[in-house]
Amino acid sequence: MKVYLDNAATTPVDPAVYEAMQPYLKNDFGNPSSTHSFGRISKSAIEEARKKVSDILNASPGEIFFTSGGTEADNTSLNGLIRRYNIRNVITSPIEHHAVLHSLEFFESIGMAHVQFLDVDKKGNIDKDQLIDLLKDKKDSLVSLMHANNEIGNLIDLEEIGEICREHKALFHSDTVQSIARYALDLNKVNINAVLGSAHKFHGPKGIGFMYINASTRIPPYIIGGGQERDMRAGTENVYGIVGLAKAMEIAYDNLSLNKKLIESLKSRMIKGLKNTIPGVKFNGLSENIKNSLYSVLSVSLPPSDKNEMILFQLDLNDIAASGGSACGSGALKGSHVINALKADKDRTTIRFSLSKFNTPEEIDYTLDKIKEILN
Ligand code: PLP
Repeated sequence: MKVYLDNAATTPVDPAVYEAMQPYLKNDFGNPSSTHSFGRISKSAIEEARKKVSDILNASPGEIFFTSGGTEADNTSLNGLIRRYNIRNVITSPIEHHAVLHSLEFFESIGMAHVQFLDVDKKGNIDKDQLIDLLKDKKDSLVSLMHANNEIGNLIDLEEIGEICREHKALFHSDTVQSIARYALDLNKVNINAVLGSAHKFHGPKGIGFMYINASTRIPPYIIGGGQERDMRAGTENVYGIVGLAKAMEIAYDNLSLNKKLIESLKSRMIKGLKNTIPGVKFNGLSENIKNSLYSVLSVSLPPSDKNEMILFQLDLNDIAASGGSACGSGALKGSHVINALKADKDRTTIRFSLSKFNTPEEIDYTLDKIKEILN
């Protein structure tokens, strides 16, 4: 049995998404900027996809811009917001994805903005009172806080943070890469300037994502050239990727509650099984809390043991894919900035299991059996 439990790193492409993309890899290859019929077919596929994405998020098509993925969308939106609105103060948290943290570090290093970090407690909760304090009496602030953490599954309340930002006249950016296609998001209800998505996190292809920039927000482009995406993101569009992204999003939202229920039950099974198998097992952040964490992520904290060091390798030998900390950079058991921010016990080992609709109870049981074998 081959078991893939690393769906926060990337997901398998849904066969229906693959089908939807095929015409644009074969016959419908026109450049969307061309005015002849070949070009028009590609152009209308893009606009149809944009409409689909915007309808799902209760946004308008003019607010959606396709990018090469989550990283580019984070870079573009943060850079654009800081430059266009002369942002001096950026408030974020130490558990953001590197696409945000390293971008902000860079902007600070060239004197574009001053970055402050909210404290997080041992469970990965941010300090909202501190956020309010930092925003008080300041103009020109930007808050960047991710919706769902990719390593420990902690969620923030976008509406609540959006209201805090509104009260203090701050801009609000949220990396929603892990929550898009897993939670309903009504952008008409949330006070937010920018969110983003990445298709490969929800059974779409790699190398394609989108950013939502609220209609009242204007930012300059990051990638400059031929004026595609209404002058916001130059470069010939990834037509088959865009079609695949929209199809993957459509499938996800058509089956949202069904998939959520299925994945939650797999996660519960895994938590129960791990507790029965490993005395002293704990879970990082809020990931043990089924209702109040990203249901697809379980961050397991193993008690100290000399067997821990090789556990990912041993799982891999048994055809089970999981990751240590965040797998976005590498699958190795290297120190994770998120786990470090929780001041976790350095003698314990973290393994992240992340689930999708394609996982089964049999796969969970097989994984639990193998963990038991490896650790005993
Ligand atoms: N933000 C978060 C929270 C992620 O989990 C990832 C995934 O690696 C990214 C951003 C980057 O997305 P992409 O791989 O599409 O560049």
